Amino acid sequence: MPIKDLNLELGPGAEFDTIRTMLLRWGALAHGVGDDAALLDVPAGSRLAVSTDTSVENVHFRREWLSAEEIAYRSVAAALSDLAAMGATPLGMVIALTLTEQWRAQIVQLADGFAVASRDLGAPIVGGDLSEGSELSIGVTVLGTVERALTRSGARAGDALWVTGRLGGPLLALRALQSGTAPLPAHRDRFAHPVPRLREGRWLAAHGATAAIDCSDGVAADASHLAAASGARIILEIDRLPLMAGATAQEAAQSGEEYELIVTAPGTLDHRAFEREYGVPLTAIGHVEGAGADGAGVETHEGAHRVPLPRGHSHFSG
Ligand SMILES: [Mg+2]
Repeated sequence: MPIKDLNLELGPGAEFDTIRTMLLRWGALAHGVGDDAALLDVPAGSRLAVSTDTSVENVHFRREWLSAEEIAYRSVAAALSDLAAMGATPLGMVIALTLTEQWRAQIVQLADGFAVASRDLGAPIVGGDLSEGSELSIGVTVLGTVERALTRSGARAGDALWVTGRLGGPLLALRALQSGTAPLPAHRDRFAHPVPRLREGRWLAAHGATAAIDCSDGVAADASHLAAASGARIILEIDRLPLMAGATAQEAAQSGEEYELIVTAPGTLDHRAFEREYGVPLTAIGHVEGAGADGAGVETHEGAHRVPLPRGHSHFSG
């Protein structure tokens, strides 16, 4: 039954108890859940940006690697990262939750993870749905407003290629977890508590970025999505990638679920002003050329040499 159909005075029952528990944990972070649908105002001159993302146990995460709070937080952060890549401001989110019996016992921890994400990332919970199932699944639909949208298709020959943050942490954390060792705290934090670059995305949109994508598959793989959508050739200079301590350039190029932004913008972009504003590095890592005879795509260079395209990291495929 949709959360929006219920209120705190509803009768007994495990499902209602679960929903009540979440609403009580969320308090004022849950907005407008008392009607059949949420009503949201979009300011004149803005457009609505909508994206959805599903996280499924044993596909996108493993229970033994993350706390329930982290799993819930992370599912929202991943969804909001897509709004960040569009230069959008969150308006709200809708959560579709499928719970097993065992996960129902963790509902307070899950609710608290959603609450942290909602509060810290500025996205009220405006509706949802609860179902029983054979594994935990979290579907998060995010809604945002945008005045000047960034898309993947605007990269132009002559632009520079930029990336926010430092790369490699999630890959190193996963590698440690998969081998049964403890990741370094800084690497684990990048994996368990990614921060979508929402304010940064808006700044970049306002300061001349021509295209953007969030780094979910690895910078090399995501740059190739930009290149394809823009009909351009992107030269990615592996040795210029900003590295998390302990990561090699190849690892940084492959590391997925970074939720950093990869953008194209003129080389004159004031990266120092960006870094002053957000305390996050903004690094030029290549440039854009016309598609030419080789067609649209990504070329990776290391120093003066062209090197094979690093494969994107697929976390749970093998
Ligand atoms: Mg994305």
